[in-house]
Amino acid sequence: MTSPVWHPFTQHGLNEPIPHVVRAQGATLHLADGSTLIDAISSWWVTTHGHCHPRIAAAIAQQASQLDQLIFAAYTHEPAEEVARGLIAMAPRADGQPALAHVFYSDSGSTAVEVALKMALGYWHNLALDGLAEARSRILVLDHSYHGDTIGTMSIGERGVYNAAWQPLLFDVGTIPFPAPGHEQACLAALAAACAEKPAAFIVEPLLLGAGGMLLYSPDILREMAAICRRHDVLFIADEVMTGWGRTGTLFACEQAGVVPDIMAVAKGITGGAIPLAATLATAPIFDAHLSTDRARLFYHSSSYTANAIACAAAAANLAIWREEDVLGRIATLADGIATRLGILAAHPAFANPRQLGTIAAIDLVAADAGYLSDLAPRLRAFFLERGLLLRPLGNTIYLMPPYCLDADQLDRLFAALAEAGDSFGMQP
Ligand SMILES: *Cc1c(COP(=O)(O)O)cnc(C)c1O
Repeated sequence: MTSPVWHPFTQHGLNEPIPHVVRAQGATLHLADGSTLIDAISSWWVTTHGHCHPRIAAAIAQQASQLDQLIFAAYTHEPAEEVARGLIAMAPRADGQPALAHVFYSDSGSTAVEVALKMALGYWHNLALDGLAEARSRILVLDHSYHGDTIGTMSIGERGVYNAAWQPLLFDVGTIPFPAPGHEQACLAALAAACAEKPAAFIVEPLLLGAGGMLLYSPDILREMAAICRRHDVLFIADEVMTGWGRTGTLFACEQAGVVPDIMAVAKGITGGAIPLAATLATAPIFDAHLSTDRARLFYHSSSYTANAIACAAAAANLAIWREEDVLGRIATLADGIATRLGILAAHPAFANPRQLGTIAAIDLVAADAGYLSDLAPRLRAFFLERGLLLRPLGNTIYLMPPYCLDADQLDRLFAALAEAGDSFGMQP
């Protein structure tokens, strides 16, 4: 019997296997046929401490029988209040003081970014109403960015085969070249020139462009980008949806550059990866631009499940884990384990461009046909699946983004399979 389920990013016409998972624990997925997989990409970058973390699962169970869901327009509940206080305390600070002082909830990374864009334009719109500034609406983005799959977030992301059908609906943005090694100054000069034209905001994935191919740039460049925006009075938006929650070695990537964005989007690991929730944090000036006795100035955005109480309880448990356990220590140990093995793999002739930031590692397989639509990535996926590993290469870029509980044996198995993939798929000299 064929399934009626239509899967994301899945070409059903190719009849690739769709493993049926019945249970998960730590970094391990248990399949219906009794076999297991190592979840080496944290189930699409969300699972941080490991699957079915007992503290998070308990918080969800407790909250589900106390208060499940509440209209969030002009009502509130303690899990949402607690998480907001926690986020503000943990977010990047200016001179040691909390700077991102307001928290707006939504349900996914895409909505958190959409909310960030709406806040930025709302800010300029309301300042213009008061005659305090010209209205601004243009958004600047980095080349190769990914910010989500809604129409708005596709508009500010890389254009390609994955959004060609909707091209007519996407709005125009200013694209700044990526600061690849040797091109940093060109990037910064282009940003300064674009900022002089008075755009509303510049949005970045701090330090690491994920879906664009695990592309890294330095904290110095991030700091300089933020400074250029500040000089030109352009809002600086950090999309920490993927880089947040310890992925890059610090709780948030912006910390490594000492940068405090005007607006910051978080999602994915905010609940430890157990249940959907997102938040957009804003500084006082962004909030204050919407503060008025005039109803027309309120922030017009909502979804049915805004700040769902069960999701907020999961996030509160995650924040408690971050406060009370040595999560950064676990991340450092994992990052060291990855670095050692990546250094060895880098000597394999089939691989090039090894790179790592915190718990994220990527390496490019030198193969004959490596384009996005080539069948290399699905063949690699099948190769790893046969070896009990959930990996999902981006074209010829193989990356790891494991949960922080991954142990040394699991790491050994992963890197052994990567070397084997190099032997099997690498271009013969
Ligand atoms: C995953 C991702 C998003 C979108 O998040 P969803 O929860 O999938 O909507 C946005 N920005 C970045 C940087 C991401 O990696």
